[in-house]
Amino acid sequence: MKVGLDVGGTKTDAVAVDDGGSIAGRIRIPTGWGPDAVAQTVLDAVGALGREAGVDLSAVRSVGVGIPGQIEPGTGRVVHAVNLGVEALDLADVVTPRLGVPVRVENDVKAAALGAHALHRVPGVAAPDSMAYLNLGTGIAAGIVTDGVLWRGARGTAGEVGHISVDPSGPRCRCGQRGCIEAFAGGGAIAERWARRSALPVRDVFDAADAGDASARQLRAGLAQGVAAAVRVLVLTADVDIVVLGGGVTALGERLLTDVAAVLSASAEASPFMRSLHLAERIELLPPGSPAAALGAALVGAEGDAAHDTQEALING
Ligand SMILES: [Zn+2]
Repeated sequence: MKVGLDVGGTKTDAVAVDDGGSIAGRIRIPTGWGPDAVAQTVLDAVGALGREAGVDLSAVRSVGVGIPGQIEPGTGRVVHAVNLGVEALDLADVVTPRLGVPVRVENDVKAAALGAHALHRVPGVAAPDSMAYLNLGTGIAAGIVTDGVLWRGARGTAGEVGHISVDPSGPRCRCGQRGCIEAFAGGGAIAERWARRSALPVRDVFDAADAGDASARQLRAGLAQGVAAAVRVLVLTADVDIVVLGGGVTALGERLLTDVAAVLSASAEASPFMRSLHLAERIELLPPGSPAAALGAALVGAEGDAAHDTQEALING
């Protein structure tokens, strides 16, 4: 049994995965604010899997945690998790002694990519060799899985497509550059530029655009252009079979998918090369409520075990 946690800004999703790869239990609890409370949330979530979901915690061999922010390569240390009130936290070091099993920590989008890849396996149909998971939330980032393995890159930056500038005279991005994909398509950037109070600013923008509001139409077009640019970058650099779109902004569902597919199709019209890539047919939405992020974290948590198993198999011939 392996446990995976997706620590989000407001809620933490936890799953227990049995040896056959099926989800044996799932719970959700609120996420605490600040380093101590975040570490406690991890402990509480594992406890709740036992108490509320009836998971036999003595059978758990590993815990993986997906968390927003940067993970220092090769460590369980998370830095700059701004949405959680965490500047720096040695998460694995803090919770491992309390949990008594190995704990591994990964960036939440990268973990979700691994989970989305695993969930894409339909019985009888092989999973795509390569997949990108493009997270459309407050910010924009992607995780890339090739041959079933998460591609982290040399410094863990692989997939940070949100900060590719697509317009040097575009809006200023929070990273300091101009015209980043995230400055056009990030939920946070759109909410800022829409500047009207709303619980669901991106949905408001779509509704106002449908009603004919010119500034909303411009923002909505920018969102579709930004997402389409990210899809192009992912396919043209990593040649992923499909790009799965997830994250809060994808609650817009087909309205978003249709816009993005239209931009991809329109930009392919003048280019036989782009047309040959069939990009509009290679994007999919992650189903609402998908356990991809927590499941992916469970897979990350067990990564060392897999390596260990392989090593044992080699030693034992
Ligand atoms: Zn940027």
